[in-house]
Amino acid sequence: MKNVKSRKSQSKSVSAFAEALNYIPGGVNSPVRAFGGVDRKPLFIAKAKGSKIYDIDGNVYIDYVGSWGPMILGHAHPAVVKAIQNAAKKGASFGAPTLAETKLAKKICLSFPSIKKVRLVSSGTEAVMTAIRLARAYSHKDLIIKMAGCYHGHSDALLVAAGSGAAEHAVPSSAGVPPAVANLTIVIPYNDLEAAKKAFQTHKDKIAAIVVEPIAANMGVVPPNEGYLQTLRNLCDNEKAMLIFDEVITGFRVALGGAQELYGIKADITCLGKIIGGGLPLAAVGGRAQIMDMLAPIGPVYQAGTLSGNPIATAAANATLDILSKGDCYKKLEAKTSMLAEGLKNAAKKQNVPIIINRVGSLLSCFFTNRPVCNFEDVKTTNIRQFKAFFTEMLKQGIYIAPSAYEAMFLSLAHSKQDIEKTVESAQKSFQNLRKFS
Ligand SMILES: *Cc1c(COP(=O)(O)O)cnc(C)c1O
Repeated sequence: MKNVKSRKSQSKSVSAFAEALNYIPGGVNSPVRAFGGVDRKPLFIAKAKGSKIYDIDGNVYIDYVGSWGPMILGHAHPAVVKAIQNAAKKGASFGAPTLAETKLAKKICLSFPSIKKVRLVSSGTEAVMTAIRLARAYSHKDLIIKMAGCYHGHSDALLVAAGSGAAEHAVPSSAGVPPAVANLTIVIPYNDLEAAKKAFQTHKDKIAAIVVEPIAANMGVVPPNEGYLQTLRNLCDNEKAMLIFDEVITGFRVALGGAQELYGIKADITCLGKIIGGGLPLAAVGGRAQIMDMLAPIGPVYQAGTLSGNPIATAAANATLDILSKGDCYKKLEAKTSMLAEGLKNAAKKQNVPIIINRVGSLLSCFFTNRPVCNFEDVKTTNIRQFKAFFTEMLKQGIYIAPSAYEAMFLSLAHSKQDIEKTVESAQKSFQNLRKFS
């Protein structure tokens, strides 16, 4: 009976999910939350504070999901909570410009030298959708190149999968996306420069833009090979195509100036989201002034949003970026995450479980494989059964990682040394039970 305490009851979550299923498709408002990737039922969350998240059964977990990226300061950071409260008291939305929007836009421009002007929107999906419309308008071309395994939100042009041959037109990856729309996107493997060159040759003078996560983080974390981003930059320059960096995850995550700062590459258009909203719905699309000035009301590219630049979201954003721009946040995140990465590696070695850790700053993936993971094909060869068993074991021990083998672990400034030590201990126990799934 010694283990009774660690065997968590999830009965309230189970019945909450059953009730939600009656009214919400699949019981969730975003598919990955359903825990389908780990053959389980989701936890319903009551609250979160710092590095900890609490389910409605009263269980506490060390949280490595961080709302899928936004919560870099940890949950319910006092400065962010205060900013939200103060803004809410002054009215939730006006549909008119406010001073705080300009403040935020200026901070974004100062952090990203490639961004001269920026438009605030409410989701990453909108940001990328607008980036593509801008790229098409500016270049007077229609085709988009996207990399397999990168996610750019759920707009039609980007819910596509590779066509039959290399550099062929894509096919819809979701029902309801017309093949005619998918046809305007070319899907090629990430980290594959030959494929990128071939796509430009095959579709000479037709490519409007490459859209890419400069550090792929929606197939687990897959960093760019050395020289990859620079060569994409050169290809775009030679072919008069726009380079769109989707930094919705990496922006303000791997450095204040995102992957662009880390690798010294400038995108033409940058998409931001997740972190910049401080946990509220806020995202942004920014870039060269000439491109951004094509937006309505001064240019011919239409884009709008009733809640864009919403005062409460903007307040949370300003408070979050103020904290991130001071002190040595990114050094701290680097140290914490490197400690976790080393701990996981050692723990796996002790238990004789082959893993590969991919990590950039506070983005980390633990892949169950003994081969390097450089693109989506590699990710698909990793041992998903081991991942599922690992997820379940970790959850039992109070560690909440993303319920999908294709998602990163996100560290926050609130994760303590003790949190990381507990996580590594739990991982070592979890690895122990994985050999039967190899
Ligand atoms: C999450 C994400 C998006 C979509 O953002 P939403 O706010 O969920 O619409 C786009 N691109 C990347 C890289 C993302 O990780």
